Amino acid sequence: MSNLNAEATAILKAAAPERSLSSWAFRYLMGLPNVQTVLSGMSTLEQVRDNLHTFDSFNPLSAEEQKALQQATEAILKHLGVPCTACRYCCSVCPVKLDIPYIIKAYNEQKLSGDAWRLDGLSSLEHSAADCLQCGRCLRRCPQNIDIPGLMRKIANRAA
Ligand code: SF4
Ligand code: SF4
Repeated sequence: MSNLNAEATAILKAAAPERSLSSWAFRYLMGLPNVQTVLSGMSTLEQVRDNLHTFDSFNPLSAEEQKALQQATEAILKHLGVPCTACRYCCSVCPVKLDIPYIIKAYNEQKLSGDAWRLDGLSSLEHSAADCLQCGRCLRRCPQNIDIPGLMRKIANRAA
């Protein structure tokens, strides 16, 4: 199942109300000349049916649909959060052993979806963003130059 933010969902649904969000990805791939095989993880019968419907015929995105997809992409990128790649270089130097990429992932999901509850799961972590000592040890480790202490403070305030 695909989840996009409300703005991107509205754009794609307006362009093709009868199509599932997942089908946009597959039909985009259909238009790429070098793609020979597409793999899809499915966990429900409904998803199997939807994929069969999508691949029932060769039906790549039209020029209009490509434009709608581009608009939806921009709507997603606008809300994208922090560019953490989950390399975990920062984790080994953190004196409180914060699971920094996990915390950032929840933050990004909350930002992308607009669902505040996405931060709820962080309360079950042994160490939360609020435990950050603001020591800055992680900063030199991050290839993405993320202001990790500043972000931990921000997330702690949101989750409080
Ligand atoms: S600033 Fe916070 S997240 Fe970074 S190493 Fe120190 S305690 Fe850990
Ligand atoms: S070092 Fe930076 S990119 Fe890597 S996991 Fe930590 S925050 Fe994410």
